[in-house]
Amino acid sequence: MPLLSIVVPCYNEQYVLPLFVEELSRVVRSWRDPESNISRTPSPGDIPEVEVIFVDDGSIDGTLAFLKELTEEPACNLPFHVRWVSFSRNFGKEAGLLAGLKEARGDFVATMDADMQDPPSLLPSLYLQLITSDYDNIATRRVSRTGEPPIRSACARLFYRIVSHISQTEIVDGARDFRLMRRSMVDAIISMPEYNRFSKGIFGWVGFKTKWVAFENVERPAGESHWNFWSLLLYAIDGIVAFSTAPLSIASIAGVLLCFVAFVALAFILVRTLLFGDPVDGWPSLVCIIVFLGGIQLLCLGIMGQYLAKTYLETKRRPPYIIREQSPDHREGER
Ligand code: UDP
Ligand code: MG
Repeated sequence: MPLLSIVVPCYNEQYVLPLFVEELSRVVRSWRDPESNISRTPSPGDIPEVEVIFVDDGSIDGTLAFLKELTEEPACNLPFHVRWVSFSRNFGKEAGLLAGLKEARGDFVATMDADMQDPPSLLPSLYLQLITSDYDNIATRRVSRTGEPPIRSACARLFYRIVSHISQTEIVDGARDFRLMRRSMVDAIISMPEYNRFSKGIFGWVGFKTKWVAFENVERPAGESHWNFWSLLLYAIDGIVAFSTAPLSIASIAGVLLCFVAFVALAFILVRTLLFGDPVDGWPSLVCIIVFLGGIQLLCLGIMGQYLAKTYLETKRRPPYIIREQSPDHREGER
């Protein structure tokens, strides 16, 4: 039987995790149930065995306790195996995804959020589409953003528009980190050693054949989103810096253009002074120009600083996460 691993990063999800486990169990049970009319694999023997890998990203609520309960009580009678990894602190979702992918032993690996915004009920159909085609991964994107603050949607759209212009890597608008991949693609992703991980870019960068499946946005049934305006802004900058060097070129081009403008202005003033003398006025415009140039210089320095900072972090070669505890049945290096 093929093995399907499902990687679920969780950060303070005590309210939503029980719902997630219940929903996933329901999906897996009805998948196995010959009576149900769920999208079936060509033959029932192809329905995979399922393991779920929860990555507790340094939660400070009851998330870890809930995961421990899941693995300690075989009486729960779940239709899948559960394993978990718990970080020593909050390392962020990207680190969580990486840890989960490294832990996964499956021939097929899915990544999804714990908050049910990536509906577990889509899994059987994604799986069917993957194994009956020669795609390497089936990726999902949401076509609507209902329930999201309008300002957040607008900023997100703007981000995708900018990034799709300045980066060679394909980063799709509305793309979720909800994917089903073949082992070869997972191995490619975990072979990327970078510390600054922007998954949406990494998925695109490794290539492979991707099929996009659209679905309507689903709102969280419990708990709340971990993102606010500033964290999203920093995330957007991370994404741009990690997958494009265009801002550096823009800074240089802006510098060259400004030099050219200054040169023309200088020539103009020189000629005017020679022809009409030197009237001592115009200092307000001078101040404006100085402030403007100062601003541009700081901006360009800031852009360079961003890249330098990322390089600095990469050269330290710190591990992207540190595991504090993991479920007992963990077997090192085994798949
Ligand atoms: N998450 C995580 N570490 C973090 C923040 C979030 O592992 O530091 C997980 C979270 O538990 C959820 C997923 O990432 O499973 C998506 O988070 P969230 O729902 O807050 O993001 P949104 O759906 O609002 O983009
Ligand atoms: Mg969410």
